[in-house]
Amino acid sequence: MSSEKIWANSADSHFVEPETLFDDALPPSLAARMPKSEKFEGYEILTIDGKQFRRNMPKPNPGTQDMREMIDARAPGANDPQLRLKDLDNEGIWTELTFPSIGIWTSSIEDPVLVKAGVQALNDWAHEYIAGASPRLLPTASVPMLSIEDAVAEVERTAALGFRAAFLPTGTPASVKQYHYDDWEPLWAALEAARMVAAFHIGTEPRSADVPAGVVFRGPGGAILNHSVNTFGGQTCVMQLVASGALDRHPNLKVLVSEGGATWGPAVGDRMNEAFRQHAMYVRRPLSKSPKEFIYDQVYASFQHDESAVAAMQYMGWQNVVWGSDYPHLEGTFGHTQETLHGLFDGVPEQVRRRITIDAFNEMFPGIEEPPEG
Ligand code: MN
Repeated sequence: MSSEKIWANSADSHFVEPETLFDDALPPSLAARMPKSEKFEGYEILTIDGKQFRRNMPKPNPGTQDMREMIDARAPGANDPQLRLKDLDNEGIWTELTFPSIGIWTSSIEDPVLVKAGVQALNDWAHEYIAGASPRLLPTASVPMLSIEDAVAEVERTAALGFRAAFLPTGTPASVKQYHYDDWEPLWAALEAARMVAAFHIGTEPRSADVPAGVVFRGPGGAILNHSVNTFGGQTCVMQLVASGALDRHPNLKVLVSEGGATWGPAVGDRMNEAFRQHAMYVRRPLSKSPKEFIYDQVYASFQHDESAVAAMQYMGWQNVVWGSDYPHLEGTFGHTQETLHGLFDGVPEQVRRRITIDAFNEMFPGIEEPPEG
């Protein structure tokens, strides 16, 4: 392993909100119903507007898939911008796209009034506290998904504040249409017009009370099964946007799938092309080019550790493979970022490394600052 410092941007990071965020910003009747976490010995209880989910904590079982664990003591900058920038310098991470932590659960709220107010509070906090701290921190804007009109309004409001990406859950709430329906057309148009990236973060499907967070399988192999199947939601969102023609109608809309790996792009594209070609007689929504071309032209995907992701760019020609640290999460690279980056890129041509660590990210967010040399 060479000792050169590899700088990388991260298309998948998280910021931990202060516990008092919603109490400070909302009337008590709404604040009390926003997502909150209570920690106990070995587990936590997540409460979202009266729905409760019990989740195991990572200490007794470090393999447990989870979106927002390991955040209390592990990474000093999880909720402090200045400590965070020190962590980023040490790790070799330059600019980060940050997703919420407790805020990812706004997708499970079922009251449109509550989600609209809660998401505005979350975005105002992110604008002031994260974006205001450094141009190296790019927060995603959360979107109220229970009303397409509200979603469009919040995209336009946050675009005016300077947000560069909107965080979208990898599944729509049960009360609205799925992403491949034309009902969502105004949202795609608003994102495209605002030059905001549609950033899907895996594992953020709305949860109902009978489906615990992140737990699909129990029994033998459950931890590995749950972490592994968690990735498919992001791929499905991309398939919906491609097959329905949304990306065809919005050629300047860029889509990112964060944390779900990046080797899938070529394989999903091939699978969709097979249907497009060989089931052409059943395809009712014409597309101006093949599904795989839409993925290659407009879809980006981030990975942390996957050895095969580099090959998706280097040997399969998908230029939109981007790296992400998933700081400060358990699945992420905090504490071993340089080891990870050297393991991925030592011996790999400079232009491949440069594309995956810096340039593909900069293509989504033009005009951001370059990292220091070496
Ligand atoms: Mn993540």
